[in-house]
Amino acid sequence: RIIIVSGPSGVGKGTILRTVMQQHESLHYSVSATSRPMRPEDREGVSYYFVSRERFEEMIAAGELLEHACYAGNYCGTVGEHVARGEQVILEIDVQGALQVMQRRPDAISVFIAPPSYAELKRRLAGRGDTPPDIAARRLHIALEECRQAKHYQYTIINDSVGHAVQELEA
Ligand code: 5GP
Repeated sequence: RIIIVSGPSGVGKGTILRTVMQQHESLHYSVSATSRPMRPEDREGVSYYFVSRERFEEMIAAGELLEHACYAGNYCGTVGEHVARGEQVILEIDVQGALQVMQRRPDAISVFIAPPSYAELKRRLAGRGDTPPDIAARRLHIALEECRQAKHYQYTIINDSVGHAVQELEA
């Protein structure tokens, strides 16, 4: 079973997913490949497999990815190792990628995690200390575009509190 989880940057997907995964050992988190630079909190093979642009393009050409997308100027994509093994897997991917997986795998469950309000999303994006203002503004723009795509998902969860969002995702 494939569970797609999307939501704008800063919405708190990471916290929700970590909590759910701690409680459900049969769920696997799909570690994506990306060409974006590492952030201080990133760990190779845990947050992502970090590869060069050239290597990413080779992976696309070789058909190694279940889906891929370009996000804020960098590539990211699903390697699909768990899917290939038929394991229960969570794909934390953006809307462009999610639409590709929904087409290829109509049996996938899709969940969109939305912020409680525009003001709260803006505050959360600015609050991420490692993000320069121009990049935060770009992320906010992308985030708003992404929220408009929530209609393509089977479920929408509003992250007004982590405990509540975790319960809804488990359900
Ligand atoms: P971040 O740079 O904050 O780690 O992630 C940026 C965005 O890329 C997030 O919306 C995240 O869901 C998305 N993303 C991460 N991995 C993948 C992937 O493998 N495929 C796609 N399509 N999006 C991804």
